[in-house]
Amino acid sequence: MSKTWKALYFDGRTPTHRKVDVQTDRQGVRIEFKAGTKRIWRYDDFSVQQDRLQGPLRLEYGEFPPEILEIADPEFGEVLGKRLPKKPRFLSVGFAILAVLLVPAIIYWGIPLASGWFAYFIPVSIEKQVGQYVIDEVFPSRIVCKTDAGEQALEKLVSRLVPLDSEYVFQVEVVDSGLVNAIAFPGGNILLFRGLLEKSPSADAIAGVLAHEMQHVFQRHGTENLLNQVALSGLFKLLTVEANAIAETLFAGVRTLSLLKYTRELETEADALALQLLYRAGVDPVEMLAMFQVLKNHSSSLPESISTHPDMSSRMEKLKIIIDQKPDFMSKPVLSKQNWESLQNICKN
Ligand SMILES: [Zn+2]
Repeated sequence: MSKTWKALYFDGRTPTHRKVDVQTDRQGVRIEFKAGTKRIWRYDDFSVQQDRLQGPLRLEYGEFPPEILEIADPEFGEVLGKRLPKKPRFLSVGFAILAVLLVPAIIYWGIPLASGWFAYFIPVSIEKQVGQYVIDEVFPSRIVCKTDAGEQALEKLVSRLVPLDSEYVFQVEVVDSGLVNAIAFPGGNILLFRGLLEKSPSADAIAGVLAHEMQHVFQRHGTENLLNQVALSGLFKLLTVEANAIAETLFAGVRTLSLLKYTRELETEADALALQLLYRAGVDPVEMLAMFQVLKNHSSSLPESISTHPDMSSRMEKLKIIIDQKPDFMSKPVLSKQNWESLQNICKN
């Protein structure tokens, strides 16, 4: 007879939760509801999340917004860890190289769906080159705002959000333009437009937008779009050119702007994962919603991004459901009042 733990169950559709009992066995996690109903979540069908180091363990099940189990007792995590099927953590370098060689063949044979997966085999250094290339193509004559105080504030904000083990080094620039928008590029470059800072209700709200943009980078959404577009010939050329010509080679025949246009699924993914970044960093997620409301009223003509998406309302509803599940989340402002003013005035030099 295995041990029983107390857990909270969220159905993913309503903000209320139910108290349930859970057990683990060889097949999965067994849930017993108060009414006597029982369910089993098989190990392959749910993911395990932990927002803060000390926080409860969350099991997420099903399509977004997922059903959630929260188990506070850390002992459950230990027991679960022993039960979960082991997956290899790192693929060998040889296998990675082989996969990169296979990319063109697979794309050629018409499986663009595979791009999302193959994007993970592109080295960050190449993503960075691609990102830089796209920025210079799309915004060749941008004016980047700089004041010492403003840059310090921005640095504080960015480092609060980036996890310690991040393989990306984020470079965020404020562009002197009234656009109410932000855009992320493969490899970790992000442009914030002055208009966004001016219209933002708070620094925490900017953190929400940045978290969303960072997730486009972490999840390699731009790289995925690129792989979707690059033809077999382009990738074969890649293997033979000098490193410094990679970006140019990749972009022969690629529509640069369309790389930054994401599907609804990718936007929804970036939203949900942005919340995880905010929770982990102790940032108030409600401000992200406030920012989305502002963006909804300021759609711009730029490709991506956060504000142009037609179904802002449905994205906001989904976010609200997740946020309402944690009514007592404790947050700390990302910037002092003075730092926030410095950031807002970074273009007044
Ligand atoms: Zn986005």
